[in-house]
Amino acid sequence: MKQQVDFDIVVIGGGIVGLASAYKIGRYHPGLSIAVLEKEEQLASHQTGHNSGVIHSGLYYGPGSNKAKTCVEGREELVAFAKEHNIPHKICGKIIVATGKKELPNLERVFRNGQENKIEGVEKIGPEQIKEIEPFCHGIAGIRVPCTGIIDFTAVAKKLAELIEAESAGNKVLTSHEVVAFEKHDFYTKLITNKGALAAKYIINCGGLQCDRIAKMDGVKASVRIIPFRGDYYELTEEAAEKVRALIYPVPDPAFPFLGVHFTRMIDGSVECGPNAVFSFKREGYGKTDFNLRDCWDSLSYLGLWKMFMKNWKYGLDEYARAFCKKLFLQRLQRLVPSLQDEDIKPSKAGVRAQAVGPKGELIDDFKVKRQANSIHVLNAPSPAATAALAIGEYIDEIATQYFKLKS
Ligand SMILES: Cc1cc2nc3c(=O)[nH]c(=O)nc-3n(C[C@H](O)[C@H](O)[C@H](O)COP(=O)(O)OP(=O)(O)OC[C@H]3O[C@@H](n4cnc5c(N)ncnc54)[C@H](O)[C@@H]3O)c2cc1C
Repeated sequence: MKQQVDFDIVVIGGGIVGLASAYKIGRYHPGLSIAVLEKEEQLASHQTGHNSGVIHSGLYYGPGSNKAKTCVEGREELVAFAKEHNIPHKICGKIIVATGKKELPNLERVFRNGQENKIEGVEKIGPEQIKEIEPFCHGIAGIRVPCTGIIDFTAVAKKLAELIEAESAGNKVLTSHEVVAFEKHDFYTKLITNKGALAAKYIINCGGLQCDRIAKMDGVKASVRIIPFRGDYYELTEEAAEKVRALIYPVPDPAFPFLGVHFTRMIDGSVECGPNAVFSFKREGYGKTDFNLRDCWDSLSYLGLWKMFMKNWKYGLDEYARAFCKKLFLQRLQRLVPSLQDEDIKPSKAGVRAQAVGPKGELIDDFKVKRQANSIHVLNAPSPAATAALAIGEYIDEIATQYFKLKS
């Protein structure tokens, strides 16, 4: 006899990717009952609520990659969603600025990428135009990207949760529900949580910084491990904030998936500077000295991490030095805005990225999804996954429809 399930689908993780996936599946399959389980008291408590708040254009990502496709599609949908639901956002545009000749080939590469990805309105600019757009910024060449913007991603996550529950009386978004184990049965999975057990036909793992552990609990042999990279931010003081009008980015180093320390005028008017990228001793640790034994063991016992360290030790040491030395952080910021002084910046928030690292020490750049039995596991959803979330949700729905044979 088949077990009566509590939900057709349980999505683990109340970040923007889990919520967008549940939202899309709920809309396309209104007959299904869906639950989103979030271990924290609040939705968006980790990456979604600790990021730069930038609506990325999609110009950085390799043409044809899932990142490029979902970023462009997701951005358009996100902006329409924000307009429809009155979510604070602004399409303020950004500039990417080269400060030395060495950076010019990479700037050109980013520009060509933008053209191949058909990002609207991208143009090359010279030093005078840089000054016109951002009077305090110094650069020898740049790119202007008019369709980049800023948004409150936590507000997006909360609105998605509201819409999921409004879609059907059988849908639930349950916070303070941590999934701690699975019991697999032929036609359903029992999810053991800190609040009791739930039975579901299908599960979708969008656990962000914990996604590889959740996959392992489900019996999936993940070929990657999540390595946490903390990003620290400084904030410009009220007086110094006038030195940045919108968004100023450096030219990214193509060897790394991180975009480099940038200036972001946030939706509340403050100007954040960051984030750097340092190996974190705690997956959900936002302090510089936070430490967790299990997280440390999981990272340091992984050969892929050591291979990554060996390949990138210089970059890693430089980033560490900047994390602990304000003067060095400031020097990095002064490359773009030379008049900034020590008293202009004050320590601000931090975020931790869930970066999947492969066994050869490679930083996995694109989104990664693995299917097994009655589960889908999102194993890498790095930036720009917040921008791309609605498109990623669409993609997860396509996989679920086909793989779980869902009816519309
Ligand atoms: C510093 C930083 C800056 C960034 N800047 C940008 C940006 O400007 N623009 C952009 O588009 N992207 C940006 N990103 C990337 C973006 O924030 C992430 O890609 C995106 O938020 C990932 O969403 P998620 O839902 O996968 O993960 P998360 O938001 O981390 O959500 C995962 C959720 O799963 C929950 N969970 C984990 N384990 C369990 C369990 N066992 N049971 C129940 N719940 C569980 C967690 O508590 C968490 O809430 C940035 C990221 C960082 C860290």
